[in-house]
Amino acid sequence: MSAPTTSPAAPTVPVALGRPSGNGSQESPTWVRVSGASAIALRLRSGRFGRSFAFGGINLLLTYDDGCRSDCAYCGLARTRPGTYDEKSFIRVEWPLVATDELVARMAAHEERLTRLCISMVTHPRAFRDTVTITEAIRSSVRTPLSVLVAPPTLNRRKLERLADLGVDMIGVGLDAVTEDLFRSLRTEVPAGGAGLSWDKYWSVVSDARDLFGPWKVNCHLLVGLGERDRDLLELITALHDQQVLSYLFCFNPEPDSRLGEREKTPLRRWRRIQLARFLVQERGFRLQDFGFDDEGGLRAILGPPEVVRDAIRSGEPFMTNGCPGEQGEPGCTRPYGSYRPSEPFRDFPFLPNGEDLAVLEAELAIEELLERGRR
Ligand code: SF4
Repeated sequence: MSAPTTSPAAPTVPVALGRPSGNGSQESPTWVRVSGASAIALRLRSGRFGRSFAFGGINLLLTYDDGCRSDCAYCGLARTRPGTYDEKSFIRVEWPLVATDELVARMAAHEERLTRLCISMVTHPRAFRDTVTITEAIRSSVRTPLSVLVAPPTLNRRKLERLADLGVDMIGVGLDAVTEDLFRSLRTEVPAGGAGLSWDKYWSVVSDARDLFGPWKVNCHLLVGLGERDRDLLELITALHDQQVLSYLFCFNPEPDSRLGEREKTPLRRWRRIQLARFLVQERGFRLQDFGFDDEGGLRAILGPPEVVRDAIRSGEPFMTNGCPGEQGEPGCTRPYGSYRPSEPFRDFPFLPNGEDLAVLEAELAIEELLERGRR
């Protein structure tokens, strides 16, 4: 495997990211966090990506002094994870704080390079109201397509309708855990007490959003490596596909000090194979019966046409970041470092892998083993 080449230069010049509000508190809607990559793209921070690629996805995160009210076992923002909220990382990267008006002005100034904007809510009583305020501010100055990665406990059908009316065109739901049992153990049963998340509520939001926003306008974020079986993932991906709901994969990457902080990262071969399988379902019409599973639910064979599988791999597309598209259907939200640290090889590629990348990917996949078993 080639040495990691993805390290961004450490941001060296943190721009004055806004002004403190009157009471000194820096909370949404006056303030938001942006991903480090977005801050670089908007020239809010200096830095560059180790490999050059066009990056136009801007990810915003609501921010509150008392943080997110949820306590998911794997999340960097979890309520009981040690540290104050403003020290916490989210998907293992820093999210600098920026004044919303400054951010909107920057987005307007760089609009021609932007492909997709996204507001990530957190579970907080003010989250919906503040998402509306920030959406209105963005929509008044920037035309780039806008998604909201929603916090289902804060929503109902009427509120989703309001987001659609304001010009949000895609809804993301961070389901993460792909079975009800797993969801309950990692997101519902919270050790320090308080309200855990409800599997049923998540699904009612997926269903309302699908109804209101239409086909291929809703996506579920699915985390690979929380303890699910390959079969669980493929069952859910095919079921969502049948409902014209997209699946976006994320690779589990332990957040230090979270309850799953000591869990192993998802093995690369498993991750690559799941990336490929999702692509075959979503883009090549494969069904659950095109995959063979062992007694433990692990993927052991691909039964669909081998040439289709090999062509898909050669295209490199299965290994690109899954994210909401830009205006013309091009990759929009490519979240570099969403599933891996900047110093590590790409778990998903924010650009089409090149020939050298493909040689590495093919070795990681060992696809002939799965195809051979499919022939038996
Ligand atoms: S993939 Fe879509 S919903 Fe998910 S973070 Fe990106 S823009 Fe938001």
